[in-house]
Amino acid sequence: MTVSEISLGCEHLQGKSCELIDEVIDAAIDNGINYLDVFMSEPNVRTNIGKALKGRRHKVMIQGHIGACWVDGQYKVSRDIDECTTAFEDLLTRLQTDYIDVGFIHFVDKMTDWDSLPDSDMMKYVLSLKEKGVIKAVGMSSHNPITAKKAVESGLIDVLMFSLNPAYDLVPGDRNMVEIFNEVFEGKEQDFTSLTLEPARAELYRACEEKGVAITVMKALAMGTLLSEERSPLGVALTEAQCISYALGRPAVSAVMVGMQSADEVRAAAAYYNTTEEEKNYTDILGRLGMFTSGGRCMYCNHCLPCPSHIDIASVNKYLDLVELDRHTADSVKAHYFALDATASSCISCGACEGRCPFNVEVIERMKRAVQIFE
Ligand code: SF4
Ligand code: SF4
Repeated sequence: MTVSEISLGCEHLQGKSCELIDEVIDAAIDNGINYLDVFMSEPNVRTNIGKALKGRRHKVMIQGHIGACWVDGQYKVSRDIDECTTAFEDLLTRLQTDYIDVGFIHFVDKMTDWDSLPDSDMMKYVLSLKEKGVIKAVGMSSHNPITAKKAVESGLIDVLMFSLNPAYDLVPGDRNMVEIFNEVFEGKEQDFTSLTLEPARAELYRACEEKGVAITVMKALAMGTLLSEERSPLGVALTEAQCISYALGRPAVSAVMVGMQSADEVRAAAAYYNTTEEEKNYTDILGRLGMFTSGGRCMYCNHCLPCPSHIDIASVNKYLDLVELDRHTADSVKAHYFALDATASSCISCGACEGRCPFNVEVIERMKRAVQIFE
């Protein structure tokens, strides 16, 4: 599946008219957006999206959620197989389709949520849908990196929808993200200056990369808080383009789901494709915070390009980290490494990349290590 990097989160279409939803889908398709997240269980929004897609279902791919149910007139996260089956069949009917591209097990968040899932009726149902071709791939949505990693490593899921942005990436594992955001709203200062990427999240991204599990991103702007100096836990304002660019730069990320509720918002989101590299560059701002600077860790941002040898430096660094930091064997990563257009042995040690890297990564040294390990 080849999905648009900017994709349509349909959450805010709930409560909107059929005409408006039609306009949003029109604008999305016209602007090259081909991937939609439909997690909402509310019947009317499903019906209206179905009407808007009539005759052009084939132009988009949909991630539809299993376990997002509508019970007694309310949204409910459920693992009850009857409720889940009813809700998923309702999704197909209302969307006027007989397949969903990625069937997502909805909202697997608590540390123990995953443990009972592999042997559950829910998983049997999801896998039977895949076998019948009713869903083409299995997805899972989560906000918890440890739970999500268990799912990724199980080999049972193909796609992970995950909340990802620089503020979440910095939250230390022993602190609660909601608590931190609340403290920021209360005006309490946070000191994130000496932190690096939260290890559980870094490990999750690499596990996805290694297992070939695609990440689709939710909350790339942390509900807009990252756009405001006052409200952001980082204490600096990022632009929307910088947040999206950050998310797309993480390993394994395929798409950022942007919530859009008007044709203008769709066009504004799609304008990302026309932003310059300078406008997307978040490294100066995050670098000023001290983020990621310790130890010259690579952020896989590729701001060090162009390379005269056409090496995708970020990817080489990613594969090297998989082996050196995450204890994967070189053999398990080699196929990805050798699929690159140019491998590290093409490096001529010109040093151009090191001058451009905002995170002081010793690229030449790393290219040499990659040759030793992979070649
Ligand atoms: S070497 Fe530096 S600029 Fe290049 S991808 Fe890594 S962090 Fe980014
Ligand atoms: S030092 Fe190597 S990796 Fe860096 S730009 Fe030069 S050739 Fe490319």
